[in-house]
Order: sequence, then C-alpha cells, then structure tokens
Amino acid sequence: MQIAIDGPAGSGKSTIAKLVATKLGFIYCDTGAMYRTVTLMALRAQLPLADEAAIMRHLEALTISFQPSADGQLVFMNGEDVTLAIREPETTNNVSQVAALPAVRAELVKRQRAIAEAHDIVMDGRDIGTTVLPNAAVKIFLIASVAERAKRRFKENQARGITTPLAELEAEIAERDRKDSTRATSPLRKAADAVELDSTSMTIDEEVSEILALVAQ
Ligand code: C5P
Repeated sequence: MQIAIDGPAGSGKSTIAKLVATKLGFIYCDTGAMYRTVTLMALRAQLPLADEAAIMRHLEALTISFQPSADGQLVFMNGEDVTLAIREPETTNNVSQVAALPAVRAELVKRQRAIAEAHDIVMDGRDIGTTVLPNAAVKIFLIASVAERAKRRFKENQARGITTPLAELEAEIAERDRKDSTRATSPLRKAADAVELDSTSMTIDEEVSEILALVAQ
C-alpha cells in the first residue's frame, strides 16, 4: 500500500509520515532529503546550480540511502552520514533551485517509484500524490500557517544545534513556498483526490489518527 503526504516546508509532513509508517509497519521515504542530498553534492563539488548536465553527471554516480534510527531516519550520501549536513542553511537555501531542474526531478522520481514498488510505504514530499505515486491509496495534503511552520522549524533546529533566528526562518519558508509552488515542473499542488489537513489547529495525535482512519476505510 502507498500513502502520499505532500505539503509545504515545515508543515509537519516528516513527523506525521514517520509516525504513520511506524504504526502501520510500513517504510518511510523522505523525498525532500533526496533533493537536499543532491544539493549538498552539487555545493561540495562547486557545481553551478543551474548546470543541469554537470549535476546529472554527478547524480548518476550518487547513491542516496536511508536507515531507520531511534529518532527517525539517517540519510547517507555514497555511504557518508549526511543527516545533519543536508539541514544546514546553505543546503536549505539552495535546494529549491536544484529541485527545479527537470532532469534531476525525473531521476529522483524514478528512484522514488522503485523504492515504493518494493515496499508498503509512506512517502512525503511536494509532488507525491500528483506525480510520483498518482495511484496512492491515501493522499494527504498537509498545511499550516507560515508563523507556525517557522516556530516548528526553529525548535527542530535547536535540537540539531542550528541557530538560525525565527524571523529568518519565516522569510526562508515563505520564499521556499513561493519557489516550490511556482516552478514549471511538478509544482507543489494538492492532488484532486487528496484530503487536506490543516495542522495549525490539530495535535500530532489527531493528525495521525485521522490518517489511520483514512487508511482503514
Ligand atoms: O521536505 P523538505 O523541506 O526537506 O524539502 C526540501 C526541498 O526539496 C523543498 O523545498 C523542495 O524544493 C524540494 N522537494 C521537491 N519535491 C519533493 C520533495 C522536496 O521539490 N517531492
């Protein structure tokens, strides 16, 4: 079974997706982490972020893998643990540009579908319900106000030792929303058959229960 959870930056997708996956015994796939890993790779190799051909050459030789851990999931780039590095501001501020490259999207969508074919899965991202898994059994579109999302990201960052000020996070999230929803390829968009949940006014437990109820239908 496939469960697609889409929504803007900081809407709580990964928290909710991980909990739902654990409850159901499904695997969890964080597609944002894949775009972040490609961005980190390009930054480290000092590739111009608009140079799609160069990024694709590097991406072809790149493995991105996940491993469950006590507090969620570890992300590996060619075997190196990049779980923290992909959340650093430099990667975060550049990921929308890399994620807008059509060839990068095509390659990552191919990898995401291959993962989803092999497992019962909860996958989160921006285009899962519309593009990656259009036949997912349950599709959720998770939203929350920008202020609430910035507050959550601030707390998450604190736990990781990242100290970006709240106002800066608000501006960054609003800007990433704008770029993610206006790009030409697979923009952030609610699938016609997705259920919208507004997490501003819901507890985590309520959101998880609502999704589990939809799965059980
Ligand atoms: O989910 P997260 O905020 O970590 O995603 C980082 C970035 O990756 C997003 O801002 C977006 O540009 C890109 N992304 C995407 N499609 C996905 C998942 C993430 O374009 N399915």
